[in-house]
Amino acid sequence: MQTAEIKRRFLKFFEERNHTVVPSASLVSDDPTVMFTIAGMVPFIPYMTGVVPAPYPRATSVQKCIRTNDIEEVGRTPRHGTFFQMCGNFSFGDYFKREAIEFAWTFLTSAQDEGGLGFNPKDLWVTVYRHDDEAYRFWREIANIPEERIQRLGEDTNYWSAGKPGGPAGPDSEIFFDRGPEYGIDGGPATDDDRYVEIWNLVFMQYERGVDNGDGTFEILGELPKKNIDTGMGLERIAFLLQGVENMYETDQVRPVLDLAASLSGKKYGDKDDDDVRMRVIADHVRSALMLISDGVQPGNEGRGYILRRLLRRVVRNMRLLGVETATFPQLFPASMRAMKDAYPEVERDFDRIARTAYAEEEAFLRTLAQGTTIFEEAVSGAKGSGLAQLSGDIAFKLHDTYGFPIDLTMEMAEEAGLRVNRDKFNELMTEQRERAKADAKSRRSALADLSIYSDFRAKGETQFIGYEDLRAESEVL
Ligand code: ATP
Ligand code: MG
Ligand code: MG
Ligand code: MG
Repeated sequence: MQTAEIKRRFLKFFEERNHTVVPSASLVSDDPTVMFTIAGMVPFIPYMTGVVPAPYPRATSVQKCIRTNDIEEVGRTPRHGTFFQMCGNFSFGDYFKREAIEFAWTFLTSAQDEGGLGFNPKDLWVTVYRHDDEAYRFWREIANIPEERIQRLGEDTNYWSAGKPGGPAGPDSEIFFDRGPEYGIDGGPATDDDRYVEIWNLVFMQYERGVDNGDGTFEILGELPKKNIDTGMGLERIAFLLQGVENMYETDQVRPVLDLAASLSGKKYGDKDDDDVRMRVIADHVRSALMLISDGVQPGNEGRGYILRRLLRRVVRNMRLLGVETATFPQLFPASMRAMKDAYPEVERDFDRIARTAYAEEEAFLRTLAQGTTIFEEAVSGAKGSGLAQLSGDIAFKLHDTYGFPIDLTMEMAEEAGLRVNRDKFNELMTEQRERAKADAKSRRSALADLSIYSDFRAKGETQFIGYEDLRAESEVL
């Protein structure tokens, strides 16, 4: 079943159940504390918190999402994209737990010729929050899932909160597909996330959250007067399971770029694990960049622009690791555009602009890469000559500052050369530079818009984008 068909069925199923179909919002969220739209519920937050009255009691959408915190998983797990689409159904003070469970179960397991996805109930497992007896009971009653395929888990995986006292909170319940014994051990979703793929998360916003107890839990002030439902089903995950392929990068909207990366490099997908990961990373990142530029993000040194730049550079870098040192975006981007244009006609309409942006970035990076690589190689032989196991923080900083090498690129290249990088020193230099920049800006009494909430992460290296934690208990590691 093609991705477009899964999407169509999802929206139709919920439309038939009185949900208003809401088009995907932009990847660039309206909310200034959120860098990107990372879940289907983001555009609906004002309705969930009650800040704005919901214009409809029920909604459904297939939302474009970007999750930079999954970047290290991309290509290595079968299921993590930096870009993906989240199918969701939402209730704003309307239906609750029973119906949410019933809808999800019916859609997944009803026959394909009846508009469902036709999953075999025997392949599905669910998890519930350990104290959520109600959800447990509904899964038994409605879905008739045997007890041994329902797992009770803790706060870390099965509890959601808006992070602030007074905000909504509640248990969630996740649905998993069992890919079978050839993919891992037989202990259910609690034990193995390669074998058991999470496909759908149902969040029951049920309580008003109180203060932190200091042990990872928090006080519950009481039941919310209007309870909400927020669910997310991964479109690409369903697609890969229904298309009989091994992972989301082999599905119809992503695969053409993967194949092209293979043919441009003269390598065969499936021959060598490391190369396969590279091809999957390329296919993922090209698509994410296409969609980000389409939504108006420009490559830059801060915030969203830096994320885009990093994705584009990682494509270049991975093509080089596959042995291609010339420009490849003029092939890769049109291929991704063709795979995405039916779902998002704007990527074709705006392709001239998108392509210009992407190609210019590649050319600039290839130039700096050539210069920086010479510096890097000199530093490596210098370090090895002096018997050092480590590349100095000063070199890493210079590569970053003068040649635009992201620190992860330097670290990756160093690792290939058998060296570590002095990250502490690098971080120190970055902090100093940031302090200097701040002082400069102050002395100029800069009247520019305050973008500081996005600017910090770059200087800190592995930084947590905590802005989002105010909204959802999930952090963005950039
Ligand atoms: P996982 O534990 O597999 O990382 P998650 O719990 O982080 O998933 P949720 O935040 O619950 O995911 O998002 C709802 C759904 O969106 C998931 O059940 C999954 O189907 C899908 N999804 C989440 N992250 C990704 C991703 N990076 N790529 C593709 N699909 C995703
Ligand atoms: Mg995740
Ligand atoms: Mg999960
Ligand atoms: Mg989840």
